[in-house]
Amino acid sequence: MALPARHHSRSRVNKGRSHLALKPVNLIKCPHCGRKILPHRVCPYCGYYKNQEIIDVYKGLTKKEKKQKEKEMEK
Ligand SMILES: [Zn+2]
Repeated sequence: MALPARHHSRSRVNKGRSHLALKPVNLIKCPHCGRKILPHRVCPYCGYYKNQEIIDVYKGLTKKEKKQKEKEMEK
């Protein structure tokens, strides 16, 4: 098995780790409902992309869930 010839200093270890931090996720405002969404993606809240309705967000929801979603959309 390979064995490192020299000990890595704490400074060298930490310098390497300075590149490991996660970048914040880039979010944009949905032009239709105004919520924060990922760019170049259909809005999961209102189903719109490029000012067109792409997916029906009410499809497959029960009456109760539909009512709740409508209430949410009003905000
Ligand atoms: Zn939206």
